Amino acid sequence: MSAATLPVATPAQVRAYARRLVVRHPRYLAAVLGLHALAAVTGLVTPRLLGELVENVRDGRAAIDTTGLAIAGFVVVQAILTWYAYLASAALGERVLAELREEFVDRVLALPLSRVERAGTGDLVTRASRDVDTLGTSVRYAMPETLVAVVVGAFTVGALLLNGPLVALPALVAVPMLVAVMRWYLPRAHGGYLRENASWSRIADGLTETVQGARTVEALGLEDRRHARGDDDIRNSYKAERYTLRLRMVLYPAAEMGFVLPVVTTLLVGGLLYMNGMASLAQVTAATLYAQQLIEPVDTMLSWLDELQLGGASLARLLGVGDVPPDRTPGDRLPDGERLTARGVRYSYRPGLDVLHGVDLDLRPGERLAVVGPSGAGKSTLGRLLAGVDGPRSGSVTVGSAEAVPLTGLPLDELRGHVALVTQEHHVFRGTVRENLVMARAGASDAEVAQVLEAVDWDGPGLDTVVGSGGETLSPAQAQQLALARLVLADPHTLVLDEATSLLDPRAARRLERSLAAVLDGRTVVAIAHRLHTAHDADRVAVVEDGRITELGTHDELIAVGGSYAALWSSWHGGR
Ligand code: ADP
Repeated sequence: MSAATLPVATPAQVRAYARRLVVRHPRYLAAVLGLHALAAVTGLVTPRLLGELVENVRDGRAAIDTTGLAIAGFVVVQAILTWYAYLASAALGERVLAELREEFVDRVLALPLSRVERAGTGDLVTRASRDVDTLGTSVRYAMPETLVAVVVGAFTVGALLLNGPLVALPALVAVPMLVAVMRWYLPRAHGGYLRENASWSRIADGLTETVQGARTVEALGLEDRRHARGDDDIRNSYKAERYTLRLRMVLYPAAEMGFVLPVVTTLLVGGLLYMNGMASLAQVTAATLYAQQLIEPVDTMLSWLDELQLGGASLARLLGVGDVPPDRTPGDRLPDGERLTARGVRYSYRPGLDVLHGVDLDLRPGERLAVVGPSGAGKSTLGRLLAGVDGPRSGSVTVGSAEAVPLTGLPLDELRGHVALVTQEHHVFRGTVRENLVMARAGASDAEVAQVLEAVDWDGPGLDTVVGSGGETLSPAQAQQLALARLVLADPHTLVLDEATSLLDPRAARRLERSLAAVLDGRTVVAIAHRLHTAHDADRVAVVEDGRITELGTHDELIAVGGSYAALWSSWHGGR
């Protein structure tokens, strides 16, 4: 099932998006950077003062008190500025993160249902949990701290050069080394972390599948196979983690060397320069301290690079969710009628494996059509297509007469006004009864809501009662009534019923059938029937066999033809 994981954005897409992310709040960003720059500048004065202090002491011109006081003053100012700077960057990070989350939710909600089913929910769950977390760390800490480190690093290098270009040179010895190790590390890390994340997704996928299908696993004795798959996934994950661990084992020691080398070299070379009269003692002291001060921002940058890579990989997976092509492309044409027509409809869940092989069907407005046939023939699939939940692979399902519009070419709320699918799955959303209803038609008045509840014979709690998880629990029958009321409010002309009442106990079913009858009144109905009396009462019957409509006509006509339907009918009738 996880063969077709959701797409992942390309590095170029991620870079472009990250760039836009950084500058999304330009004024806020300028304030944050300004504060950090000020803090950096105050921090950079100290080495210069210390340098002078050393020289003064050597020359016997002691001004320790004033210099010491000045240094203390700068340290305090720097601390205060840094505090505000971090506060501002944390606020900025949180804001950006909140926006990212909202965008991700929008992307997920826009995902075509068919694609989610194919990719498996584990992948989506991993992206929504682990990837959002990882990205959170990046946006909260890694991005602001890296930005700050870049600012502080740039200022320190500037101060180093101002202090004396000659004594600044030795500090550069580490640059080639750090550049080389980074150039080795970064391209490997990108793929490495993507593989690591994908391997976690597979583990989550496998676990969810095993837990959800626990009964099936037990019934078919698949435990060993599930174990083997789990072991396999863990082995792959272990391999992926070892790879990135190896990368870090090269990166960290090399970086550590890169930090210490400049300090030592500056001291040594600076000493030589001083002895040859090419630099003052103050310059050498300050340069050494600057080289020491450079360690922190460079270390911050390098250590967050790792995290940023992880964040980048997660961002690629979050953005990738938006790359799924939409399965509907709403145009602005609206249908001129309610006639539902299917032409040459083919559909496949897996490429190359059609489950519908060219279905033609003309629904007459107001008729009741029963769809019967053996299990697995494609009845539910046809129902989903007739309700516009999914688009056909080829062929068309349209609504309207002269101006027929494909169902997948209608915006969702427009579509729901024409045709809706009723299945056994009835989700009660957490919220009041009223909220559960008006989602079908925003802006419905209380009077309208009360009317639809009456129409379905509602015996549940009042409009303002909170239901759903954490609220009052509705019985299955009430949940179904609520769903039916929602339908009445959406007021579609055509309803596709997929075994709407078969799971309920008979007493509840009778009550529901009354509700249902009220809902169906005056609408075109396609009933996917598992009990043949539904077929008997219908205006027409369509027999679906092996992905095709093989017989179509009234009950009496089909009985007279003496084909599959007649056989079904006599066996069902005879068996009673
Ligand atoms: P019916 O409703 O007549 O029992 P369905 O429309 O549910 O038939 O199924 C038709 C065929 O499509 C079956 O072979 C079934 O295995 C396959 N199928 C149904 N749903 C899926 C799915 N989500 N993924 C892959 N194959 C599916």
